[in-house]
Amino acid sequence: MGGFARKEYEFLSELGLGPRNPGCFVNGAWSGSGPVVASLNPTNNQVIAEVIEASIDDYEEGLRACADAAKIWMQIPAPKRGEIVRQIGEALRTKLQYLGRLVSLEMGKILPEGIGEVQEIIDMCDYAVGLSRQLNGSIIPSERPNHMMLEVWNPLGVVGVITAFNFPCAVLGWNACIALVCGNCVVWKGAPTTPLITIAMTEIVAQVLEKNNLPAAIFTSFCGGAEIGEAIARDTRIPLVSFTGSSKVGLLVQQNVHKRYGKCLLELSGNNAIIVMDDADIQLAVRSVLFAAVGTAGQRCTTCRRLLLHESVYQTFVEQLIEVYKQVKIGDPLEKGTLLGPLHTPTSKENFVKGIEVIKSQGGKILFGGSGIDSEGNFVQPTIVEIAPSAQVVKEELFGPVLYVMKFQTLNEAIEINNSVPQGLSSSIFTRKPEIIFKWIGPHGSDCGIVNINIPTNGAEIGGAFGGEKATGGGREAGSDSWKQYMRRATCTINYGSELPLAQGINFG
Ligand code: NAD
Repeated sequence: MGGFARKEYEFLSELGLGPRNPGCFVNGAWSGSGPVVASLNPTNNQVIAEVIEASIDDYEEGLRACADAAKIWMQIPAPKRGEIVRQIGEALRTKLQYLGRLVSLEMGKILPEGIGEVQEIIDMCDYAVGLSRQLNGSIIPSERPNHMMLEVWNPLGVVGVITAFNFPCAVLGWNACIALVCGNCVVWKGAPTTPLITIAMTEIVAQVLEKNNLPAAIFTSFCGGAEIGEAIARDTRIPLVSFTGSSKVGLLVQQNVHKRYGKCLLELSGNNAIIVMDDADIQLAVRSVLFAAVGTAGQRCTTCRRLLLHESVYQTFVEQLIEVYKQVKIGDPLEKGTLLGPLHTPTSKENFVKGIEVIKSQGGKILFGGSGIDSEGNFVQPTIVEIAPSAQVVKEELFGPVLYVMKFQTLNEAIEINNSVPQGLSSSIFTRKPEIIFKWIGPHGSDCGIVNINIPTNGAEIGGAFGGEKATGGGREAGSDSWKQYMRRATCTINYGSELPLAQGINFG
């Protein structure tokens, strides 16, 4: 299409984007009758392109078509649905570099992470293709003669997916790849500040559906904010809403979904700790903490926010960490060698600056960084803070590269601190001792959904179930048996005899 304000944005035409883009994909056509919003580049806060968001009328039209398409899609055999998801994976492979670049440009994460995010959806597609032949039920022995019990898995219909800005397309992949092979249509609302990614991703899926002469409404998507999100949460045509975002909004979504007896899959805030024991490989741990605390500018749900150091390694560890922090190159996320890009929005930067003031007022001592960086973009310094685990601010998720360092004496004390926050997403311990490892993963260990050993808190593989406990929401997505949440379990008892024996030996006349 061309006509972008800056030449470096012209690659976006390879993804079907122009300077102004309709942001609703409704029944096979791009439209939009809501407000026009600008997508900004976090590196300089200049406009990349404009998007016309969805209105409630657009939403209604889209959902009608999507609910109709669900009747067709669920009848297509699961392995055939898998073939469609395979083709989506192939289409993504051809656009990997462009889409990765867009993720980096619009969200602000460094290019290797932007490309990695798209690779994650490709991996999810591969995973889902295999899964499409393994949506197995089971046969259960019946206590009654000439009876048999079966468990059969059926599609739900429409799955709603609401996603956060920090993983603007991978999280769609975790949900949509599985939901589609399970026989569900998908209605997606991406984050309001990453609309170009929502459109580009949708266009890739749409082209595959069109090539296969399938109803385009199988995949329906909207750019927009809370209003569209709320409409999804309240919509009785959507049996499952998968929500990724803050714990505050997640709770609201859960209440709205539960009010209508819908199902909810929540992936909410994290407040993740790394514990370094006295026998740890310090070099390995320092590198891990750097990636976990500074990667994605501290804007991952799995970012390490709390570093718990055994008193015997405290001093050397902090010194080594400060040395590697000094070497972190801050700059344009698209430039080679940059490790720390900008925060996503000017508001994120303001929250960082305010957060540092609160930290100081609660006794936090800044060991490194601690300031915003004067520039037209949303850059801040990677920050290390020494603070007591009891400080209130430590219990909250400050969404930026701020690492709280704390000292402990015993394993029990470290586990207690790990578990002392409202969130329960990810955690990791560095040790070589089997007795520590097995305590850590057992009932008296970490209370999180992700319990790692000798690796960072972030960077999960798709093969495992991803998610966390407590204020993180309890959901599990991606691998393992997460697919079961996207289906409806039917327990069937078949009587193939001519008697009517009752369960529990009941004799009814
Ligand atoms: P957010 O809660 O502000 O927004 C998330 C999504 O909810 C957006 O699409 C937003 O438009 C939508 N929304 C806002 N109000 C709504 C409402 N009333 N009803 C329905 N939808 C509504 O979160 P964010 O700032 O985009 O993302 C950062 C947060 O997401 C962090 O807390 C992070 O930890 C969390 N997160 C969690 C995971 C996970 O897997 N656990 C993954 C990524 C991000």
